[in-house]
Amino acid sequence: MYDVIIIGAGSAGMAAGIYTARFGLETVIIGKVVGGLLNDSHRVENYPGFTAIPGFDLMMKFKEHVDSLKVPVKEEWVTSINKNKDGTFTATTDKAEYTGKTVILTMGTKHRHLGLPHEEEFAGKGISYCATCDGAFFKDQDVAVVGGGDSAALGAQLLAQHAKSVTVLVRKEKMRAEPINLKRLEENDTITIKYNTEVKELLGKDGLEGVKLSDGSELKVTGLFVEIGHIIQSELAEQLGVKLNEHKEIIIDSGSKTNVPGIYAAGDVANRRFKQAITGAAEGVIAAFSAYEFIKQKQDSEKVDVGWH
Ligand code: NDP
Repeated sequence: MYDVIIIGAGSAGMAAGIYTARFGLETVIIGKVVGGLLNDSHRVENYPGFTAIPGFDLMMKFKEHVDSLKVPVKEEWVTSINKNKDGTFTATTDKAEYTGKTVILTMGTKHRHLGLPHEEEFAGKGISYCATCDGAFFKDQDVAVVGGGDSAALGAQLLAQHAKSVTVLVRKEKMRAEPINLKRLEENDTITIKYNTEVKELLGKDGLEGVKLSDGSELKVTGLFVEIGHIIQSELAEQLGVKLNEHKEIIIDSGSKTNVPGIYAAGDVANRRFKQAITGAAEGVIAAFSAYEFIKQKQDSEKVDVGWH
């Protein structure tokens, strides 16, 4: 029986684990990919204490910290979660079952796909969702990036270090990336930004050879990096009767509490407007404190009451 089950091993989940461990709570962190999506960010410049650090390196520092507190991190995929009759929760993974008194949900998001024909078929054959992982394979080639946020802006900058040319395809008349990132794109001679442009077709036979754009023109590229945002992974929350908003984000209050007592949420899966590694970590820490208070109150009431309810 754990005090806290944390689902998700990104910045929010790992930060929560550091705090629950320090509160003396028996904790397990379950996450398929330690580090989460921040691993894909080749350069994080806005995590206090680090002027610039690769996302993967930052997350390995989180992992070191978690390990130092002897919190187990299970690299498993949670398939379902249930509330038990005694008020505890059981998470079932592809390998085991974990029961805990409280749960902190930090499942984050997954990459959004364009949904065009051939997209899945060309994945790994020209289509990529991670410039950090795949950028170096496109040395001296012409590539494009779809998207207008910070992921697209950072991805394009990284690709410009390898590729011959990088075209950023933005569907609106402006980008929503941070001004500092936009300025760097505009100042980079290898990068061209095309506004009001959508990708309509993926061209190629055995792999990507180009894209057809909304103005009818064709752009010859051997790589297309899709950086068009993320899909919230909140299915497990739904199983627990946790309230979501219209974007499928988990609704939390200032204590990272959901509508279900004993269940907390933090990070990109939650309904917070500004989603950053630092804000996710902070929400995780607040969730840890709320879980601690919940358990303490239960323990205090158990002294006069009976059972865990
Ligand atoms: P965002 O949701 O911020 O941006 C998604 C972009 O993709 C938007 O420009 C959107 O266009 C566009 N888009 C969505 N669907 C399509 C489509 N079908 N075709 C073409 N374009 C499409 O996602 P990001 O991943 O960029 O960023 C998510 C969050 O993570 C942000 O808060 C960001 O600041 C943060 N982040 C921080 C980083 C860091 O600090 N190192 C690194 C990367 C991200 P439109 O504007 O028209 O809706």
